[in-house]
Parts: sequence; C-alpha cells; structure tokens
Amino acid sequence: VAEVRDVVFDGSGRTADGHRVQLLANVGSPSSAEAATAAHAEGVGLFRTEFLFLDRSEAPSIAEQVRAYAGVLAAFPGRKVVIRTLDAGADKPLPFVTMAHEENPALGIRGFRTSWRRPDLLDEQLAAIALAVADSSAEVQVMAPMIDTPDEAADFAARCRSHGLAVAGVMIETPAAAITAPELLTNIDFVSLGTNDLAQYTMAADRMVGDLALLNDPWQPAVLRMMRLAFDAGRAAGKPVGVCGEAAADPLLAAVLVGFGASSLSMSARALGHVAELLQGVTVAQCEAAAESSSAARSAEDARAAAATALGVGA
Ligand code: PEP
Ligand code: MG
Repeated sequence: VAEVRDVVFDGSGRTADGHRVQLLANVGSPSSAEAATAAHAEGVGLFRTEFLFLDRSEAPSIAEQVRAYAGVLAAFPGRKVVIRTLDAGADKPLPFVTMAHEENPALGIRGFRTSWRRPDLLDEQLAAIALAVADSSAEVQVMAPMIDTPDEAADFAARCRSHGLAVAGVMIETPAAAITAPELLTNIDFVSLGTNDLAQYTMAADRMVGDLALLNDPWQPAVLRMMRLAFDAGRAAGKPVGVCGEAAADPLLAAVLVGFGASSLSMSARALGHVAELLQGVTVAQCEAAAESSSAARSAEDARAAAATALGVGA
C-alpha cells in the first residue's frame, strides 16, 4: 500500500533556482473554492461555471449568476481568477443548450460553439461576470473553451471587451488551436492548455472510454509535441501560456510543462502540495532538459522515464 502523505503548499510556487510558476486551483463550485483557499492556492486558473447550469430546464438568471460568481471571487481578493465561460456539450450535455442527439458529441456543438446556437447565453454570462467583477478586487480573466480558429478567438475577445472585461484568453484544447496558436494570440491576452481535451483530440481517443487510457495520456509524445506548439507561440508573442488540464496535477509532468515555458499551472487543490514540492527540488534547466527528452521519446512510458532521469527523481 502506497504511503499517503499530505504535503502543504506555502502559497508561492517556484523552482529550486527561484523561477516563479503560479500554482492555481481548478474550481467548479463554491465548496471547491473553499478547498482552494484552504490549500493556499495562489488563485484560480480554471473556474468551471457549468455547475450553475446543470439540472435545470433554462439558464440561471443574470442575478443568480452574479451571486454565484461573486461568491467565488470573494474568496480570492487581489488574486487572479480565470473564469471559463460555459463549456456545455460532449461530456457535459445541457438540454437547453446542446442538441438532443449528435452522432459524435465530442466533435459536435460544444464549448464556445454553443454560442452559435445560443449567443444570448454567452452574452448574459459575460454581463453577469462583468457585474461580479465590478464589486470585487480579484484580478479576473475570462476564457472560452473549445476554440478552433483565430476568428473564434477574436470574436470571443471582442465580446468580452464589449462587456468591459479587459483580459480575455482561450483554451487550447484542439490540435487546430495548438497549430494556429500564433494567430490566436494576436487577438487575445493569454492561452491555457486544456490537456484533457487536447489529449483526447490529438490521439483521437475518447476521454470517457477507460479502455483507451493508454492512448488518452498526456505523456504521449504526440500530445507533448502538440502542447509545445502552443508554448512556443506564447513565448514568441510574449504572452502567458498556462495549463489547466489534469496534466498539471502530475508533479513530473508539471516540471515538463515548466520546461516548455508554462507560466501557471492549475489543478485540483489536493495536488498543489505535491506539485510545489517537486518543483522546489528541480532547476529550470532540469525542467527544460525533461521537456526536451520526454517530447523526443517514442512512447508515453519512455517519455515519463526520460523526464524522471532529467529531473533526477523516481518515475
Ligand atoms: C481540459 O479539457 O483539459 C479542461 C481543463 O477542460 P474540461 O476538463 O472541463 O473539459
Ligand atoms: Mg476541456
């Protein structure tokens, strides 16, 4: 039986040589916001707003949304909070937003695409976020899920600005977004890698099918190389690239992401201590070597072993 240890995060992520990496929490409900503050998260890198929309026949009112967003923002005064707009569809179907039947829901009308059918829902959500922001000292950033093209990113950014929301970004969850990241970044302020979906779409392996777990693995070199495209684009544009998928919660992989140039890592609160602990023991140069050797590997297993060797830790 593996020993289960609780490692406490001191609230400031850094490598052994003092390179700062923001360690943020993924939050999907008011109670997970409490868990995030208890774990000393530096802020929120992914606020999933779906919880407000579930088990309903219509969208929540603007007033109800303002109350819910304000409740989470109040837990992070002066801190960064990245609010993701509604990510309905595929693994998160919602009757009033998504299609009744789709042959391939993961390739269907989901994420930002739902705003083509219900633009009113996105506008109401942005209006509610703007109202919550007006009453809060949190540093709010807004981001859209499931973006494919530079035009979608530009459209999202314009809509955010029309609501007075100054900082807008998009998730990189599809190969199309990773490949066109240089163009995406011309209209937005940051990108955040959603590695759960990016792995699913890069490997063409459904994230809901357990039998495909060997393929649907962020350590797959194809996925690492796909991620690298986005990091390189961020570096060239001088704009931050964060990670908010499960990959950020794997300490070894977190170090690889830092080696690629991740400026922030967002994860479930309970992972923060373990990721912080590993990063504190390695240098940026080791992270870069781990990123280099793992993305050059020929299998997920080899990639993990290569990273462990470069970092001087056990796989
Ligand atoms: C992801 O796809 O990695 C992600 C963070 O979004 P979600 O898991 O909510 O689809
Ligand atoms: Mg996703």
